[in-house]
Amino acid sequence: MSAEVGPETRVLALLGDPVEHSLSPAIQNAAFRAESLDGVYVALRCPPEDVGGLVRGLAHAGGGGNVTLPHKGRCAEVLDVRSEAVTRTGACNTFWMEEGRVHGDNTDVEGFRRALRTLLDGSPEGARALLVGAGGAARAVLLVLLQDGVEEVTIANRTRARAVELAGLADPSRVRVSRDSLPPQGEAFDVVINATRLGLDPGDPVPVDFDRLGATQAVMDLVYGPSETPLVREARSRAIPAADGGEMLVQQGAAAFERWWGRSAPVDVMRAALTASRMG
Ligand code: NAP
Repeated sequence: MSAEVGPETRVLALLGDPVEHSLSPAIQNAAFRAESLDGVYVALRCPPEDVGGLVRGLAHAGGGGNVTLPHKGRCAEVLDVRSEAVTRTGACNTFWMEEGRVHGDNTDVEGFRRALRTLLDGSPEGARALLVGAGGAARAVLLVLLQDGVEEVTIANRTRARAVELAGLADPSRVRVSRDSLPPQGEAFDVVINATRLGLDPGDPVPVDFDRLGATQAVMDLVYGPSETPLVREARSRAIPAADGGEMLVQQGAAAFERWWGRSAPVDVMRAALTASRMG
C-alpha cells in the first residue's frame, strides 16, 4: 500500500471465496511500498455472479487484480483479451486494463515455471514427471511441463476420469494416466508434483506414497501453509529436495505485479513479506 491513499490511488483486488486467509495482500502491499507505487491491494470475497462486474469495473476504474478459487474460469470468460496461458488453461488469475480493453493472464503458469526452475536449479527439460491432481492448478502445471520439454508426464488423480480429461488436452505421446488413482508402482521420477488440495487441512494424509515409487529426485508441493506441508516434511525426511507452494505464490504474484505496473517486481521484498506473514 502507498503511504497515503488518495484520489489517484489504483485499487487492485483479489476476488475469491474464501479470501480471508490469503497472503497476497501482505505480499503485494509490501511490493507497492518498496517501489513507492500509488496502489492498494485488498481482498474481496464475492459470489460467482459478481465476478464479471467486479473484474470489468475495477479494470475500467484504472485498477485490476487477481482471481482465486472458485472464480478463475468465470474471469477467463469476461475478458476482452486473453493471454495464451488463459486460452490454454481456461483460467485467469490476473486482470488489468490496457488500451481500453480488459486483459487477463494466468500467472500461475509463469509462477510455477519460475518456482520449479528454482527447485531444480534449471529447466526440467528431459525429466520424467509425476503430476498428482487434475484440477485447475494441474492444468497450469501440465502446460509448463510440456512447454519446458519434460520427456513424459504421468498423471494420477483420485477421480481418474478427470486425469483422463486433462491428459486429453495434451500430446498423447508425452502424457499418460496412471491405471488407478495411485502412481504407478516402483517407477522412478525426476520430479513429483502435488497439485491436489491435500495438505491444506491439518490431518490431511500425505498425497504421495514414496514407498510405492522408485527413486524420486525432487518434490514440488503447490500447497503452502504456515509451516512445512506434510508432503514436504515427508520428502525431506527421505533426503529428497522439496519445496512447498510459497515460492510459486510469490512468483505468480511477481508476474501479476509486472502486468499491472509494467516494471519488474521486487521479488526479495515479496518473499520476505511472505515469510513475515507466515510467522505472524
Ligand atoms: P481444484 O481445481 O479444486 O482441484 C483439486 C484437486 O485436488 C483435484 O485433483 C482433486 O481430485 C484433488 N483432491 C481434493 N480433495 C482430495 C482428497 N481428499 N484426496 C485426494 N485428492 C483430492 O483446485 P486447484 O485450483 O487445482 O488447486 C489445487 C491446489 O493447488 C490447492 O491447494 C491450491 O491452494 C494450490 N495452488 C497453489 C498455488 C500457489 O501459488 N502456490 C496456485 C494455485 C493453486 P478430484 O478430481 O478427485 O476431486
